[in-house]
Amino acid sequence: MLATDGVDERGLTELEQHGGFLVESIDDSSTPEFAQALARAHALIVRSATDVDAAMIEAAPDLRVIGRAGVGVDNIDVGAASQHGIAVFNAPAGNTVAAAELTMALMLAVGRYVTEAERSMREGRWERSRFVGVELDGKTLGLIGAGRVGGEVVARARAFGMEVIVYDPYLTDERAKELGFRLADLDEVLETSDMISVHVPLTAETEGLVGEDALARMKDTAYLVNASRGGVIDEPALAEALKAGTLAGAGLDVYETEPLPEDSPLRDAPHLVMTPHLGASTEDAQVRVAREVADRIRDALLEGEVSAAINYADLG
Ligand code: NAD
Repeated sequence: MLATDGVDERGLTELEQHGGFLVESIDDSSTPEFAQALARAHALIVRSATDVDAAMIEAAPDLRVIGRAGVGVDNIDVGAASQHGIAVFNAPAGNTVAAAELTMALMLAVGRYVTEAERSMREGRWERSRFVGVELDGKTLGLIGAGRVGGEVVARARAFGMEVIVYDPYLTDERAKELGFRLADLDEVLETSDMISVHVPLTAETEGLVGEDALARMKDTAYLVNASRGGVIDEPALAEALKAGTLAGAGLDVYETEPLPEDSPLRDAPHLVMTPHLGASTEDAQVRVAREVADRIRDALLEGEVSAAINYADLG
């Protein structure tokens, strides 16, 4: 088994110690050493840096499984893998808590001017009256999408004393009841929430979902947070709303183009807390995603269990 891209080795020890696998970790996939290991590997585990294209798959005649320690598989040619009968697994749940906690961090940071106050202090000032924030307690949090990450955000927001309403056309009232929120339509979420947080995948339906019109419906005192996918929010429209003061503030972890272009209008928008796609970047999540994908690889290689593969339907 070959692991690359700095997949956390602590997540793979179980495979070596109890699964009887030989795990080779080679972080640079451009080396001859990597090519040699690939030629004899039955499984390949990557994060997002290595481009697992058709040529790489051709160069691995014994490969039966590709694992992505994380969620997105944009760097893997899943079609080519399917053609070679190779199962592709990801680790969709390992990042969930990390993303939910960052969402809370963005809400708290923007609501209490944490980053702006910090910057002001480093510049030698002491400006207590400039940074009067808002509390989460007693406020309405409106979520757009409440799957794995959104569900964890609900639990944390309730602990902060927030009432949670959710727009998610694919959820049932039973799930809402179970998690302790109320389902609402998009207009209600946009028009009545004090904090709005987006937790949807990027699809044709969600692309640009929070555009000029949606932003105009939000209260002037509302805050918007996005740690899901860039492209869901119209960035120039958000920058405009922040500059015009028709939105109180925002917190972003993800962007339409990453890295964020130098000339993005977000860079000088006021009351905006930005992080460079750190949602999954915790030590804990890195171990968890490696372990999650390692479990799936073990099940696939030892028991032929591939029903959780993302290309299961195409494996034939
Ligand atoms: P999930 O699939 O469990 O949940 C997504 C939810 O969105 C589902 O409940 C679905 O019904 C809902 N949804 C789909 N289309 C919708 C629409 N048009 N309107 C409203 N709701 C809609 O996904 P998840 O694991 O909770 O992840 C949520 C998002 O967060 C994804 O985009 C994921 O890539 C992203 N994510 C980002 C980071 C990060 O590093 N910032 C980390 C983990 C996850």
